[in-house]
Amino acid sequence: MEKRSRNEKSDRFLKKTDTQKNAVKPAADKKAAKAPCPLFKKCGSCKYLDLSYEKQLSEKQKEMRKLMEKHCKVQPIIGMENPYHYRHKVQAVFGMDRKKNPISGVYEEKSHRLLPVETCLIEDERADAIIGTVRGLLKSFKIKVYDEDTGYGLLRYVLVRRGWQTGEIMVVLVTASPVFPSKRNFVDALRKVHPEITTVVQNVNNRTDSLILGDKYQTLYGKGYIVDELCGMKFKISPASFYQVNPVQAAKLYEKAIELAELTGRETVVDAYCGTGTIGLIASKKAGNVIGVENNGDAVRDAIGNAKANDVKNIRFYRDDAGHFLTSCAADEVKVDVVIMDPPRAGSSEAFLDAVAKIGPRKVVYVSCNPETLERDVTYLEKLGYRAKEVWPVDMFPWTGACEAVCLLSKS
Ligand code: SAH
Repeated sequence: MEKRSRNEKSDRFLKKTDTQKNAVKPAADKKAAKAPCPLFKKCGSCKYLDLSYEKQLSEKQKEMRKLMEKHCKVQPIIGMENPYHYRHKVQAVFGMDRKKNPISGVYEEKSHRLLPVETCLIEDERADAIIGTVRGLLKSFKIKVYDEDTGYGLLRYVLVRRGWQTGEIMVVLVTASPVFPSKRNFVDALRKVHPEITTVVQNVNNRTDSLILGDKYQTLYGKGYIVDELCGMKFKISPASFYQVNPVQAAKLYEKAIELAELTGRETVVDAYCGTGTIGLIASKKAGNVIGVENNGDAVRDAIGNAKANDVKNIRFYRDDAGHFLTSCAADEVKVDVVIMDPPRAGSSEAFLDAVAKIGPRKVVYVSCNPETLERDVTYLEKLGYRAKEVWPVDMFPWTGACEAVCLLSKS
C-alpha cells in the first residue's frame, strides 16, 4: 500500500495547475528548460526541472561516478528518448478550495497544503484527463469530497493505472465510506467521456493515516485489474500491486540486468526481493530454474498468478524475508549460479549478503533504486570475496533526483 506523499522506489509526483495547460515543453536535447512548471520547488518531485534533459543525465552520471567509480567502471547512463508523461500510475488527492469547490492535486512538499493540478509533465496525459473528468462530474452527482477535519464527504483520492503495451486503464475511486450513491450512473458518465477505461474499482479507506488505499475493494466495472506486457511477459496489475511506474525504462533496466547475468539456459537463478516476479519471470526463459523470494504476501500471490498466466513452469516463489530465506538456502547447501537482487531503498541486509557469499554464486546482479545503499552493499560484498565489474545507471524518473542502477559483481 502507498502513502500519499509517496516515495515509491524513490519517486514523488509532480502535477501542474490549470494555468500551465499550454506551457511549452522543453526540448529534451536543448539547454534552456527554465522550469516550465509553477509547482517547481513546491511539489518537490522534479528537482531537475530547470535543467535540460541532457544536463540532468550528466548530473546523475556524475553522482553515480562519485559513489561507484572507486569500485568499477560506470557505464553511460541509459536515458529516455521521450522523458515526458512516463508515469503510468497517477494518483490525485481530492479536496476543496477556499470557495468550497472541489480540487484535486498533490500536497505541497513537507506540508499538508493541497496544490491544485490539471496536467503534469511526467504523468500519463490520459490519466490526468480522467482525473479532471472525475472532478468535473462531482457537482452534477452531488458527490462531496472528503474533508479531513470534519470527516464529512465521500471522495478522497483517485488512482489511475494504464498498461503501457495493452493500453488497459484502471480507475480506482477511493471513498471514505462504502455508501456511494448512484455509483453505476457515475461510472457510466465517466466511461461515456473516456471509453478507453477498462475497469473501475471503488476502494474504501476510512483510515486517518496517510495511506491511499484501504482494505476493501468493490469492482464497479470490468475485471478489477489491468494486464500489461513487459519484455514478452504478461503482468496482472491490481490496484495495490507494485509495478514499476515507468515501464518504458523498466524494460531497459530488466533487460540490462538479465544481459549482465549471461544466462545459458542451465543456471539456477535467485530473484531476491522479487515483488510480483517481474525480473525472475523474464529471466526464466533463459535460465534452468528460478527461485523468487519476497516478503509481501500479496506480491507473492500476484507472482504465482503471473507465472501461471505466462505458462512458466521453471519458477518457484517463496514468501519470506530475503535474508532469512537465503541463510536457510546456504545451510541446506542449495546450489545457485546467479543471484539477481532488487532491494528497496534501504538496500539489503548483512544476513542476506553473508548468505550470498556462503552460497557463492558466480555472479550477483544488483538492481538498485538508491545509489548510496548500493555502494554500501557493494563495499560489503567486496569484503566477502566479490568484485564489482560494471554499473549501469538507468534514468527511471526523469526530472526527479532519483537514479536506478544495475551493478554486476563476480566472484573473485
Ligand atoms: N523486483 C521487483 C520489485 C522490487 S521492489 C520489481 O522490479 O518489480 C522491492 C521489493 O522488495 C518489494 O516488493 C518489497 O516488498 C520487497 N522486500 C522489502 N524488504 C524485503 C525483505 N526483507 N525480504 C524480502 N522482500 C522484501
